[in-house]
Amino acid sequence: MGIWIRIKSWFRERVRPRFGTQYVAEDAPKHLKARTLYVVTEDGEPWSAAMLCPCGCGETLHMNLMPDERPVWRLSADADGSSSLHPSVNRMKGCQAHFWFRTGRVYWCGDQKVPLWKDLRLLLGLEK
Ligand SMILES: [Zn+2]
Repeated sequence: MGIWIRIKSWFRERVRPRFGTQYVAEDAPKHLKARTLYVVTEDGEPWSAAMLCPCGCGETLHMNLMPDERPVWRLSADADGSSSLHPSVNRMKGCQAHFWFRTGRVYWCGDQKVPLWKDLRLLLGLEK
């Protein structure tokens, strides 16, 4: 690995925005906050997750967590209070964002060249 790539990936890891997890009953709020994964529960069972698209396009992403519906994601709560989703989130329309959501952080998939400034903007709260 070249030295620049190493510096770049070190820097990216430093500025990678962290998403908090917020549990809500029945429905996600109309206006989602940036850098927040909303887990919607019914009778204490999580059935859906929602977040603003981390690419900054302003769209809300919904991930179904109910195993008898497709597509379905598995939500895991991590020890530090963050969350992970499995498999990756892959938007087929709009911005085509494709990323893994792990321990509250967005890892863009290799086929996506998302410029660093998008992460920086998200980190600085410049996104809507
Ligand atoms: Zn997007």
